[in-house]
Amino acid sequence: MRQCGDCQLCCKLLPVPPLQKAAGASCKFQKFHKGCAVYHRPEMPNECAIWNCRWLVNDDTADLSRPDRSHYVIDVMPDFITITPEGEPPQNIQVAQVWIDPRHPDAHRDPALRRWMFRRAQAGVATIVRYNAKDALVIFAPPFDIEGQWHEIRSGMKPTPTHTFDQILQALGGEAKAVIE
Ligand code: SF4
Ligand code: SF4
Repeated sequence: MRQCGDCQLCCKLLPVPPLQKAAGASCKFQKFHKGCAVYHRPEMPNECAIWNCRWLVNDDTADLSRPDRSHYVIDVMPDFITITPEGEPPQNIQVAQVWIDPRHPDAHRDPALRRWMFRRAQAGVATIVRYNAKDALVIFAPPFDIEGQWHEIRSGMKPTPTHTFDQILQALGGEAKAVIE
């Protein structure tokens, strides 16, 4: 079974609203080389207690490096984006969330991560690379494109904020539940 070891990247990259901790900001409970000072104590926010990363649960991530070495964290929690194809009603598309260390903005080009995105795309899941709670890059791997090309969409996008658990369930329904459970 995989262990976090010295990795604490999730505690830095992800926002924790109850602690008013923004994405990319250090957590007041994070202790260098020791981990979370309130682990499994009442002060630990629920968001942290139930959260996990895909590298740790090894959910189709066998060939990926530990997050502190790859410089990104794949969230087990999916999100969604809404696209409006010309002449058609808006559609919600499930996206896997990858939180990138802003000091390594191109970490999403890791070939192992691209292979993982490709496999998710075969299941109809795109990827959102989050630099913080609002700035993001949406990546559509070749299975989404009839010409088999990668597409990275950043410019011209509206801000893509994270959604609440209820919003995600409402948008994706059983599809999201199946991923979360
Ligand atoms: S990012 Fe994953 S491996 Fe790293 S500390 Fe968080 S849960 Fe552990
Ligand atoms: S409370 Fe603990 S688990 Fe949550 S972000 Fe802070 S250090 Fe990490």
